[in-house]
Amino acid sequence: MVGEYYQYLREMKQYAETEKIPIMQEEGLDFLTTFIIKHQIRNILEIGTAIGYSTIMMALCHKEIRVTSIERDETRYLEALKNVKKFHLEDRITLIFNDALETKIEGTFDLIFIDAAKAQDIKFFQLFSKNLAEKGYIITDNMYFHGLVEKNEKEIKSHNLRGLVRKIKEYIAFLNNHPDFNTVIYRVGDGVAVSERKAL
Ligand code: SAH
Ligand code: MG
Repeated sequence: MVGEYYQYLREMKQYAETEKIPIMQEEGLDFLTTFIIKHQIRNILEIGTAIGYSTIMMALCHKEIRVTSIERDETRYLEALKNVKKFHLEDRITLIFNDALETKIEGTFDLIFIDAAKAQDIKFFQLFSKNLAEKGYIITDNMYFHGLVEKNEKEIKSHNLRGLVRKIKEYIAFLNNHPDFNTVIYRVGDGVAVSERKAL
């Protein structure tokens, strides 16, 4: 059984590589799963399922964990559904096919993991922080964006890429100046931000 699961995970990684789907890097994922275990996280909201790789890895951290995950790309959503079934996690993982910015989510979560369109990070944070439990955490992936965030802007040739990097910098400034949250950005994987509410 467990051997099969390792095989499925390898296949998912392979698929993501072939289809150029940006699933979380190994190191970032290790950090995320360790965080989930250490903080005894049980209810997770994920923005950006892709094919369900991080979704499944998070659900596998503990048998009581429930994950709700949103994906707007239909092909990826369908692939994620298939993968969730392979792992027999249908009872604990709820996949939503929709644009997250148009999705109303009920209830509260002790972890919100933002890993979707980087230009929308501020909007995701603002929209979903109301679904965060009092002692919950918001984790955002790709704060370095393949090292580009720390690069001199002039070195980034593509106009689109430059715009995206600017957006991530805006998001980092937004987090650092947020009146209600403290944020630490960890130098793991592609840069992982952990935000938690300030003590009153
Ligand atoms: N968390 C996944 C990778 C997600 S890649 C993993 O590590 O395994 C980012 C995904 O976010 C893409 O599949 C993209 O289609 C999706 N996405 C981007 N903007 C979105 C939005 N506004 N609503 C829902 N999904 C979005
Ligand atoms: Mg990512």
